[in-house]
Amino acid sequence: FLSAFFCYSHAITTHFDAPRLVGLRLAIVAVAYAAIGYAVLVGQSLRFELFLSDIACSLLLFSAMVPAWRRSTVSIDRALLAAVVFVMLETTVRTIVFFVMAGTLAMDDFIGSPYAYVMQITATIGALLMALTALASVALRILERHRTAAEEDPLTGLLNRRGFERFIGEFGRTGKVDAAIIVADIDWFKSINDHFGHAAGDEAIREVASLLRMLSWPGLAVARFGGEEFIAYLPNCRLQDAHTLANTVRIALSERDLSRIGIDRSITASFGVAVTAAGDHTIHDAISRADRLLYLAKSSGRNRVVSSPADVSTQTTPKLFVVKDDAAGTKP
Ligand code: GH3
Ligand code: MG
Ligand code: MG
Repeated sequence: FLSAFFCYSHAITTHFDAPRLVGLRLAIVAVAYAAIGYAVLVGQSLRFELFLSDIACSLLLFSAMVPAWRRSTVSIDRALLAAVVFVMLETTVRTIVFFVMAGTLAMDDFIGSPYAYVMQITATIGALLMALTALASVALRILERHRTAAEEDPLTGLLNRRGFERFIGEFGRTGKVDAAIIVADIDWFKSINDHFGHAAGDEAIREVASLLRMLSWPGLAVARFGGEEFIAYLPNCRLQDAHTLANTVRIALSERDLSRIGIDRSITASFGVAVTAAGDHTIHDAISRADRLLYLAKSSGRNRVVSSPADVSTQTTPKLFVVKDDAAGTKP
């Protein structure tokens, strides 16, 4: 029992990444073994043997439950710790009651009592609960880890296309949230790779990602959509605000010193910005408009932000706002 509870407590602290407190638990086990040894060999008392063993098991659970408690956030983890608390209390109460009763009753009377029957059923249910919630918690965590890995871009830590689609999935179904879309593409990136190498190119992608991640907007989602293409989703954001934010990123990137990643010249990016419109079926309509505007930003000189009114797709002659900048991109 002591070994099992020691291992279970260790598993709990590991699962919650809480302080392991191995020394403390080893001390509890050592003291308990010594005391139980004394009760069995010298005192020859089953009553003391069981009492000491159960109290030590409860203490082992307690030593794991306390540091783990603050780290449990999701419901299944709370359920797991609740099961641990239940077993801990049940073990403590049961062993105290047994200790008192065994002092007055004959063992046969005790074992035949309704209390002993209920006690055993409760202990069994507690142990089952503890095992099943642990299994569920571990399984859900593994699923979550796989889902994160499947929806994350390993190079930048941003969402990948799949993660982005899931994030905005709710919008796609309801079509109720107004949002702005910013798409960005690094300018002349192929030549960055050719001049400075693929590893430096990767670092440059990471730099752009970190700038986009720093965008301050509630509900923001940023994803790397392709090689050197990014997309940002800004719920409840007006076109002008999204344009300003994109322009902030554009300027920050063009002014960034990249010498520490082995690129001794500035890099720039082009941006297309669009917002959702009344006639849209899904957010993808706004993404398509932003894509077209990005293409315009490229063809009109790069290193610029191009946005349009939300109804651009329904106009025969789209009204475009092209921001021309003094440092417009020229092929290096
Ligand atoms: P433009 O201004 O028109 O966007 O020109 P560009 O050179 O950026 O565009 P192009 O599509 O011709 O080239 C994109 C390059 O991005 C080609 C590919 O080698 C590079 N690329 C794609 N994914 C990665 C990546 O993960 N790491 C690195 N280092 N390069 C990548
Ligand atoms: Mg490019
Ligand atoms: Mg591209």
